[in-house]
Amino acid sequence: MDWEMVVGMEVHAQLNTRSKLFCGCPTSFGAPANTHTCPVCLGLPGSLPVVNRAAFEKCLAVCQALQCEIPERCGFDRKNYFYPDLPKNYQISQEYVCFGRNGSLEIDVEGTRRSVRIHNVHLEEDAGKLVHPDDGSLHSEVDLNRAGTPLAEIVTQPDMRSVAEVEGYMTGLRDLLLYLDVCDGRMQEGSLRFEASISMRRAGDPELGPRVEVKNLNSMRAVRLALEYEQARQTAVLEAGGRIEQETRQWDESERLPWSEPVAHTVVQTRLPKDFKGKTHRMRGKEQAQDYRYFPEPDLPPLAISGALLERLRAAQPELPLARRDRLQEAFGLSAYDARLLTSEQGLVAYFEQAAAGARPKDVANWLLNDVASVLNARRIGIEAFPMPPLELAGLLKLVEKRTINRQIAKEKVFPQMLESGLSAAQIVARDKLAVESDEAGLRACVASVLAENPRTVAAFREGKTQVVGFVIGQVMRQKKGKADPQLVRKLALEGLGGA
Ligand SMILES: [Zn+2]
Repeated sequence: MDWEMVVGMEVHAQLNTRSKLFCGCPTSFGAPANTHTCPVCLGLPGSLPVVNRAAFEKCLAVCQALQCEIPERCGFDRKNYFYPDLPKNYQISQEYVCFGRNGSLEIDVEGTRRSVRIHNVHLEEDAGKLVHPDDGSLHSEVDLNRAGTPLAEIVTQPDMRSVAEVEGYMTGLRDLLLYLDVCDGRMQEGSLRFEASISMRRAGDPELGPRVEVKNLNSMRAVRLALEYEQARQTAVLEAGGRIEQETRQWDESERLPWSEPVAHTVVQTRLPKDFKGKTHRMRGKEQAQDYRYFPEPDLPPLAISGALLERLRAAQPELPLARRDRLQEAFGLSAYDARLLTSEQGLVAYFEQAAAGARPKDVANWLLNDVASVLNARRIGIEAFPMPPLELAGLLKLVEKRTINRQIAKEKVFPQMLESGLSAAQIVARDKLAVESDEAGLRACVASVLAENPRTVAAFREGKTQVVGFVIGQVMRQKKGKADPQLVRKLALEGLGGA
């Protein structure tokens, strides 16, 4: 019988506030270790936390975009545990009342829409970071710059059934957070962290199997590989008559080994294998909520969430990615593929909409996704730093549309010159005399001279090798330095060959 994979996700999104959640220390990435600290985030005795209003509002904006129920009163709770990167020996989080519950996110899975239920969204502070020097020494170092940075934790129900659905969820959530401008989405810097919990069950079984939480997933690729690995591992264990233990495992992708791990044992191994690279390996058995001795945070008063505040946040909510994608397809006739690529970045879609006011939308989409994209890649810049204003690009496309210049001249000469000089397309066309020659008599004479010089081509055409017309067009275009109207040249060349 078939096995079905069941996946739930927990996401930690670092909110892009300037200062930390409970103190005024900056949150910027990459500062020298322990320079962004103060008595509050170092957990010194007598210091008191104060809630960062921007973090509070950004977290509520996430709850609203995820259609969560939001309570009128809320507060923080202490999660007690000991770890060297946690100076207070507790983390301020939310356990009893979260900012958001029972929401959902609509996602795109390879072209079809699905809905993933959101269990809860809560606000908490991040821990510091342990640094393990690579010099063979036995000590570790602690950097508390990140301690106290605001995190929105977004927890789904176990609603995903395939790796494709998980990828759809990750992309959809990341796009949403970027559109809301609450998180920079940089997985490599740790500002967006995914954890997956995965279990297997017989298809059709209403019960969920014991779940395994996988940590250390620092890219979407890692999530995909780890899920494929766990799916294979758990299936192999279950097929061999073993059972899956509820536990936390760590992904290590430094080397990818084949999954065909021999399963000689029937109980999941509890010792760390020596060569766990490219696999998940056991970190610990699953802890329960009571292990953390949660209690309401005594240093912070409860928070009231007013209707007026929610109203203001709702009014400020931008059009969300999937809605914008639908609108682009309807309003501009774009393909689902182009609409998805354009809406993957807010700057890109804004540029598109401005340029589409001055040229054919499909042309704008093609240029943005090809010519402009390759300039951005080569210069390693984002669309925000692209020097050509949208209406200037539209001006270029309009010249092609009116057949004042041909497409090739536009791509190879005018577009690069616009980037270099900052002049408009029309100015460059006039300056460099790039307008197509559509003087029919002149082009006809040029075709005639090419045919006169190439009698064998004419003979070949008469023998039925009609593809030689391409050679004639090429010769004429060369003589005209590419500035002829290709459709007109083709027509004249066919006429010349047929009548010769
Ligand atoms: Zn601080």
